[in-house]
Amino acid sequence: MTRTMVFVSINPHKPSEVIGEYEESGAQGVEEAVARAHKAFAGWREETAMARGGALSSIADEIEQNHDEISWLVVREVGKPITEARGEASRAISILRYYAQMVLVPDGETYPASTSSKDWLVSRRYPVGVCALITPWNFPIAIPLWKMAPALGYGNTVVLKPAPQATAVACRLKEIADKHLPDGAFELVLGDADTGEPLVKHPDVAAVSFTGSLRVGQSVAREVAGRGARVQCEMGGQNPSIVLADADLDRAAKTIAYAAMGYAGQKCTATSRIIVEEPVYDDFRERIVSAVEAMEVVDPEKESCQVGPLIEEEARGAALQALEEGRGRKLTGGKPLDEEGFYLVPTLVEIEDRNSLLAKEEVFAPVSALLRASSVEEAVEIANEVRYGLAAAVFTEDLGQATQVGNRLEAGLVRVNASTAGIDYYAPFGGSKDSGIGSTREQGLAARQFYTESRTFLISP
Ligand code: NAD
Repeated sequence: MTRTMVFVSINPHKPSEVIGEYEESGAQGVEEAVARAHKAFAGWREETAMARGGALSSIADEIEQNHDEISWLVVREVGKPITEARGEASRAISILRYYAQMVLVPDGETYPASTSSKDWLVSRRYPVGVCALITPWNFPIAIPLWKMAPALGYGNTVVLKPAPQATAVACRLKEIADKHLPDGAFELVLGDADTGEPLVKHPDVAAVSFTGSLRVGQSVAREVAGRGARVQCEMGGQNPSIVLADADLDRAAKTIAYAAMGYAGQKCTATSRIIVEEPVYDDFRERIVSAVEAMEVVDPEKESCQVGPLIEEEARGAALQALEEGRGRKLTGGKPLDEEGFYLVPTLVEIEDRNSLLAKEEVFAPVSALLRASSVEEAVEIANEVRYGLAAAVFTEDLGQATQVGNRLEAGLVRVNASTAGIDYYAPFGGSKDSGIGSTREQGLAARQFYTESRTFLISP
């Protein structure tokens, strides 16, 4: 007899509040969900692109009707500041509407046939089958949807395994989507590794799109590639913001403070290293400390909240441990707030040793390291000397300098005079180096590459 495991999702601001209690799906649940998705694929792939796009639009409409309730659920389950939670729910709607239209763009090419001038040589894109989508907790509605919308729109069926900390939001999404999709097109399995592992190993899963930590992503990629299925893993970052001597220092300090500490630094694109050119280093240090200290660390339900709690006690413990091992000079923060929730005061640390843990590894907390660069060259060298390559920013008033530096930054996303944390759902998004595995990007038209394969036809009338 198999034992059913039960887990709970809690409010990180008020850990005594249980958001939901759930049964882990485990291997048996995965088996059943994949079987249903596999069966549904035969019918869903035959639907017209218009019908599939129509279903995405209907899901968008229903999320819009429930925008407020969903935003508050995001706040309560993952501690995201309410203003950002509303933005995420709006983004989810936009993603669905975008792919509802994108499925109508030309899906292939024609070529002159070598056999006869009357023959047609045509290449078209087709869905790949059942797609497993494994997602983190920090964008509990946008990330599942930026995978689901293109996967379903292009004719695949999906099995979503959300992070356990974000189960309630995923269940609400399923409740809405089920009304607009045929049975089995969208399956949901719950739990952590004991559910994720059988899912990625399942022979009927044709593609796995994963977003999460480096450690888990690398093991998922090995497993899926080993059995010859498609895999795409988007993982963490150690994202630099470079401040050059000619930058608008006030604007840079305010932007970087939010990029580093907003949502308690729990964005994959959060700024975790601030690299400042020597002539303005001391001046900028003062400004960034003030900007960080001015940030609102309060209950995420308050409109003024900018920082909010960490997702769980272990995350805060890991951040404090990293600060201890990081060997830096603390400029501000570094201690928990005297609150029930998992708060950590936004923390800036000045680092001289470029090999410090804080300058090399992702902490995923409101913690950022300040480093000095003697020249533009050295700033780029510091920025690139980590294994990650997700997002990077450069602050300068000189456009020539911005493009030169930007071209040399090893990151999937480069932003000039803007926060590292910010992405547009209609442009390609993904990491370089160890931040991303797989040759395709997510979002925009790039997502089609992953969720479809091309087939070339010769038609000889
Ligand atoms: P995580 O790696 O702990 O979990 C991610 C998902 O993998 C969860 O659903 C989890 O249950 C599942 N999982 C865990 N073990 C597994 C296994 N053995 N097999 C299959 N699935 C398994 O990450 P997290 O804590 O949920 O999220 C935070 C991380 O996500 C950070 O590193 C952050 O940088 C990253 N992230 C990256 C992006 C991006 O687009 N690059 C976006 C958001 C978050």
